[in-house]
Amino acid sequence: MGTDTPLKTRKIQIVVVGGGAGGLELVRRLGAKYGRKHHDIILIERNRTHIWKPLLHEVAAGALDANLDEVGYRSHCHRWGYRFFLGTLEGVDRSNREVVLAPLLDDDGTELIGRHRIRYDYLVLAIGSVTNDFGTPGVKENCLFLDDRAGADRFRNLLLNHCLRVSRAMSLDRHADEHVRVAIVGGGATGVELAAELFNSAGALRHFGLEVFDESRLKVSLVEAGPRILPALPARLAAAAEGELRALGVDVRADTRVKEAVPHAIICEDGERIEADLLVWAAGVKAAPMLARLGLETNANNQLIVSNTLQTTRDLRIFAMGDCCSHTRSGLERPVPPRAQAAHQMASAVFRNLGLIMRSKTLKPFIYQDHGSLVSLSRFSTVGSLMGNLVGGRMAIEGRLARFVYTSLYRMHLIAIHGWARGMALLLVGRVNQIVRPQLKLH
Ligand SMILES: Cc1cc2nc3c(=O)[nH]c(=O)nc-3n(C[C@H](O)[C@H](O)[C@H](O)COP(=O)(O)OP(=O)(O)OC[C@H]3O[C@@H](n4cnc5c(N)ncnc54)[C@H](O)[C@@H]3O)c2cc1C
Repeated sequence: MGTDTPLKTRKIQIVVVGGGAGGLELVRRLGAKYGRKHHDIILIERNRTHIWKPLLHEVAAGALDANLDEVGYRSHCHRWGYRFFLGTLEGVDRSNREVVLAPLLDDDGTELIGRHRIRYDYLVLAIGSVTNDFGTPGVKENCLFLDDRAGADRFRNLLLNHCLRVSRAMSLDRHADEHVRVAIVGGGATGVELAAELFNSAGALRHFGLEVFDESRLKVSLVEAGPRILPALPARLAAAAEGELRALGVDVRADTRVKEAVPHAIICEDGERIEADLLVWAAGVKAAPMLARLGLETNANNQLIVSNTLQTTRDLRIFAMGDCCSHTRSGLERPVPPRAQAAHQMASAVFRNLGLIMRSKTLKPFIYQDHGSLVSLSRFSTVGSLMGNLVGGRMAIEGRLARFVYTSLYRMHLIAIHGWARGMALLLVGRVNQIVRPQLKLH
């Protein structure tokens, strides 16, 4: 894949880095439309399989078996007409129009493939975000993050180990006062959803061999620096969610700033120490620091600044979308939020604009449609607000309707990455699995 073939005789190469909520949908559409003709569509991704990130709290709590929901990139690319390269983006050589991939290492550290480069005519960066620890001392070393499948698996294994410990202690002594203590920092959607999902799983554990374990053995603290949890939702809905969490037994602490994380405890600014077996940090996101070194315009969170066509401001051959970019529509104050629905809409806009480039037409502006926010409190409740013309402004919803809309987001993602027929078939398989497979993943 050198750079010496004249452009006229070689295929136009579109490289997408990151096969997540936005990137996988984009390569599927590009591959289906252009991949088998005069274009080479390439996906570069550091993992072998895709799991939709909003499911990670369910994977962490054991409520979802990621093996059943993940998508293998190799089979997906074969079906949809793009090429898949396993690798981690390390840099972009903009003058030669090449991406630089880090050496690929075996599990034991042996180098399998050295550092290498892949040419692009157009590059789309869709590498998502990572948890932001805001430089808080001890967080990196002592807290768990739900950034990817590995992080969610790690949390679940540790959780199950502590459930076993408590169950064993309780069966030896019925009066033992043993608990699994979890401290979650960040009262946004991720923290709230994880807290509720943990109670769902704890309740189910007694049916899976841990007879003496139940919800009462779980102590969850949810720590939020702001005045209330779920700042993205209207105050009434956030209060409803908080009430639901408190009823489950979650110790919700707003206005509480964390100063430091140490082994098995977080230290608050007022000096209070919250002891826990598992510490989870879910207090906001930032983009990978590597993006700030590409010579492109970035903000303080390392996100690439993109114009209304989703091209980076300093290099029109490079697009960025999803959590790794920042786009503020002119006239508005707030940028598009880092959400799956934004990544989905941006994937459609980049697909359309790349098509316009192929036809030498003027690119169209991306206009974000906020359809609202929904937060799932596992089987206990779902709250949120819908926005848009459909409901004539903002409408608060709760309960079954909210749950239906929440799960529809995942249905839409499945259809976006598999097409209608296969997407619907997979939904059906999912329903059957819910009936025939265990309620919890215990390994
Ligand atoms: C627990 C949790 C719950 C959430 N719930 C919701 C929700 O209910 N609703 C909602 O709208 N949003 C939710 N979100 C946010 C949502 O998941 C993200 O906004 C969305 O996934 C962003 O899509 P993306 O394509 O930008 O990035 P991602 O989906 O994160 O995909 C990025 C991809 O890039 C790959 N990658 C990263 N770095 C590199 C590299 N250097 N080289 C190669 N590949 C790389 C990653 O492996 C990944 O596959 C949730 C997030 C979490 C963590």
